Amino acid sequence: MDKKFFIAANWKMNASLAFIDEYFASLRSESENSNEMIICPPDIYIQSVKEKAPSFVKVGAQNISHHDSGAYTGECSGKMIGDQSAKYAIIGHSERREYHNESNDLIRLKLLKAIEHDITPILCIGESIEQRDSGQTLDVINDQIRSVLDSEILSANTNMLIAYEPIWAIGTGLTATPDMANEVHAHIHTVLSEMSSNRIPILYGGSMKSSNAKELLQMEHIHGGLIGGASLDASEFLKIYNIAEEIRNG
Ligand code: PEP
Repeated sequence: MDKKFFIAANWKMNASLAFIDEYFASLRSESENSNEMIICPPDIYIQSVKEKAPSFVKVGAQNISHHDSGAYTGECSGKMIGDQSAKYAIIGHSERREYHNESNDLIRLKLLKAIEHDITPILCIGESIEQRDSGQTLDVINDQIRSVLDSEILSANTNMLIAYEPIWAIGTGLTATPDMANEVHAHIHTVLSEMSSNRIPILYGGSMKSSNAKELLQMEHIHGGLIGGASLDASEFLKIYNIAEEIRNG
């Protein structure tokens, strides 16, 4: 299958120096395959992950400020994140939308800052359970995409990932069925293709683990996973990365 997969870990506010040592003792350079492995630790550990991880592992931040510098306590700018050699930044995760009141307008500014600093955004979108139950999923997705992205951004930037993360599936153990996820991913592709000819890889996120990764990653419109809980176990995360390779090799 000619599809490169992006297997990304969102460690959220987890890890420690001891955890990082142990994690990368089991994840070595011989683990590399033809897909992209990305680890997004808390900012404070980006440098430690960079030092301990095998060189094929790309590192990402979980957020980025929409400011460049100044009196913004607790924030990190795109320049700072880039200085740590992070290549990716998760933007608009539902936990940031919910706990930090991040709006689509703010998420757009953050995405532009990431691009300005050569950091590949992983833009998260997804519906709540109420929105799904009332049949609004595709409209919500459409709104989230169109209020953050436009044809100009899309045409100028091939380096971008979108993560479809139904909020009701994040950290709950509930997973969208492969058909449910694929339907939304296909819709995202349609919306994007109305705006630009660029093909942006779309990852699925929401309780992905080694036991359900194969059926999800096999779907036509799914190009990888953004993985929270299961990514905290190095062997589980590596299994998902290897499943992607098995699918790729057919
Ligand atoms: C996430 O936080 O992006 C996520 C998908 O978490 P989990 O895999 O734990 O559902």
